[in-house]
Amino acid sequence: MSGFIDVFWHDDVLNLDTGFGVFEAPPSDLLETQMEHPESSPRLVNMRAILRKGPVAERLVWHTGRHATREELLRFHTANFLEIIEAADQNGRRFNHTTLINAGGMSGLLAAAGTSIAALEQTMRERRPAMALVRPPGHHAAPDVVDGYCFFNNVALAARAAQAAGLERVAIVDWDVHHGNGTQEGFYEDPTVLTVSMHMDHGTWGPSHPQTGSVDEWGRGAGAGTNLNIPLPMGSGDLAYELAFEQFVEPALRAFEPQLLIIANGLDASQFDPNGRQLLTMDGFNRLARRARTFADEHCEGRLLIVQEGGYNPAYSAFCLHAATQGFLGEGSTLADPLAYMPLFEERSKEDVSALGKALKNVGWELAPNPS
Ligand code: ZN
Repeated sequence: MSGFIDVFWHDDVLNLDTGFGVFEAPPSDLLETQMEHPESSPRLVNMRAILRKGPVAERLVWHTGRHATREELLRFHTANFLEIIEAADQNGRRFNHTTLINAGGMSGLLAAAGTSIAALEQTMRERRPAMALVRPPGHHAAPDVVDGYCFFNNVALAARAAQAAGLERVAIVDWDVHHGNGTQEGFYEDPTVLTVSMHMDHGTWGPSHPQTGSVDEWGRGAGAGTNLNIPLPMGSGDLAYELAFEQFVEPALRAFEPQLLIIANGLDASQFDPNGRQLLTMDGFNRLARRARTFADEHCEGRLLIVQEGGYNPAYSAFCLHAATQGFLGEGSTLADPLAYMPLFEERSKEDVSALGKALKNVGWELAPNPS
């Protein structure tokens, strides 16, 4: 494959200021050093830098994104929810220990959502991959719930924008290390959007955060059979992810026949992420991205939207994004991995994926193997 990827960026995504503190732990006076919030601007600035300076740079066409309109937001979120965000934007608000907005930070949320939609419009027109390099992530945000750093669900808003432009069936594949619970909730009874989440089997985070993302959550009512969860054991690496993509994601996509593939491109399944416990390397992300590109070319007439989700190591996430971007071009990664030295537990990975296949089958999934 050859060609280019259109990358969309808007400076306002840097307006969300999550500040410094002691995060991802109960408020504690046991520690002394205040650290930058994991979801902060440097991670995205580094991602932009590596795409501009790395070997992939000559294959990217940069565009300026935009803010989402109220009409676009209301395709997925509720009017009451917008009022809550607008009120929080006045003086800032901490929704919970780790999810907060500063006064004026809503411009960042609007830019992330609108830039995702601008990239969507580009891939609809050009039939080649378009990428929205945005923050904060969105996949934990439900129609009326703020959750896990997320306020507006960028991939969901892009899916609805595609349908407003005339597409009937859209697939969202989310390989962020965390379950895409907000996306799942928003489309749970909707047969027109296939939602797939590959994630760490991360268990319950206390009473406010029950475990979600198990295989038996597969949609409800008219949406039964259009929500595929692929929980992978902690420590899963490149091979387990690629096997799961080949054996479960691709058959589900082929059966659904989407006209557009959206990738929720979380990079926090990397081996060096502070918020994940998986072991993907740059090569693992590259291989997933190549598979996504191949599917979009063969089944979606080239419509492929890539939206940035998590990825919280501010250095390694950028390298993983570079590798994924070369994958979305249909090519291998040519940038040396500065950190990969993890062995691949190949036999263990095969056993895990085989057991997961049985669990999915027991629930009712009929996932035909890839035609050879
Ligand atoms: Zn995540």
